[in-house]
Amino acid sequence: MIGHARPTSRGAKGMHVTGPPTLAIRQLVKKYHQRVALAGVDLTIERGDWMALVGPNGAGKTTLLRSVIGLIRPDEGSIEFEGRAIDPSIRRASMGYAPQDNALHETLTTREHLTYFSKLLGLDHATRRKRVEEALEFVQLKDRQHDLVKGLSGGMKRRLNIGCAVLNHPRILLLDEPTTGVDPLSRAAIWSMLRQLREEGTAILHATHRLDEVEFLCDAATILGEGRVLYEGALDELRRVAGLPAYVLKLPVSGASASDEGAEGQGNPNARTIEVQDTPELPEAIATLASQGVDPAQVRVCPTSFETVFQALVKSGSGT
Ligand code: ATP
Repeated sequence: MIGHARPTSRGAKGMHVTGPPTLAIRQLVKKYHQRVALAGVDLTIERGDWMALVGPNGAGKTTLLRSVIGLIRPDEGSIEFEGRAIDPSIRRASMGYAPQDNALHETLTTREHLTYFSKLLGLDHATRRKRVEEALEFVQLKDRQHDLVKGLSGGMKRRLNIGCAVLNHPRILLLDEPTTGVDPLSRAAIWSMLRQLREEGTAILHATHRLDEVEFLCDAATILGEGRVLYEGALDELRRVAGLPAYVLKLPVSGASASDEGAEGQGNPNARTIEVQDTPELPEAIATLASQGVDPAQVRVCPTSFETVFQALVKSGSGT
């Protein structure tokens, strides 16, 4: 691994995490003939973690998720769930997977679909009935329960896809681009479903190209590049590793002389931008500006986006 390791366990709402991690992946290797898709990946997820899995096309994200859920057999390495080598019964009982391409049959209704998946999971009759009702509520498709899947919108299909993945009340949920092609309202519905699961302690490993989504939802990210972990850590930590400030303050231009353009630093009230390295320093930086006669209402506070962090790290991690 090139990047930083996380200093401590996080877990939902900062809960103290003890015992083995929910998921521990060690030195995972997968080759498709001569093509190396995973080149020795290490990844650890604790209870309640929400970990983004990001990286350019072909970085190995889907291959990693499919290896964990058992759709691909890795060539080398190990995968443990709560300290035990993973096997099909653990996967069925404790893991959920919502694939990139919806695993749905167009000729079944929404309800039939959930019932079918709950049978595949081996749930008994009474549990099945309860879980199907729960899932319909959860994915907000109760009013469309008797519609054929082919009659659902793209966003509804994505929600149903996630509904199938949570029927077993998974302790870890693997998501492959859950909101691709989904409109903003359906996306918000999916986000709120996932947040609810996380509140209940479900760990989430979330592959996505939507870096705004990572910023909004996830605690930490693993950045893959060419089958390797380039960087891994809490989002703030990754920003620091990239050498980027938490905020850039853009000051009002009036009063700035030409020679001040591009100047930076808290000591110069005419500077056009000021970098604030970490969030706790923000109030003091604004107060300092106010004491120097800058109207705080005129200061634009621009947080560094995860997209900026990602681009900086991928460039440095891949040596470009
Ligand atoms: P994307 O962001 O485009 O979805 P990804 O990060 O999920 O990409 P993977 O789909 O895991 O990447 O692919 C990793 C590498 O493995 C790529 O070079 C891809 O071409 C290759 N690969 C994936 N599946 C197969 C397969 N079934 N046969 C051969 N090569 C494959």
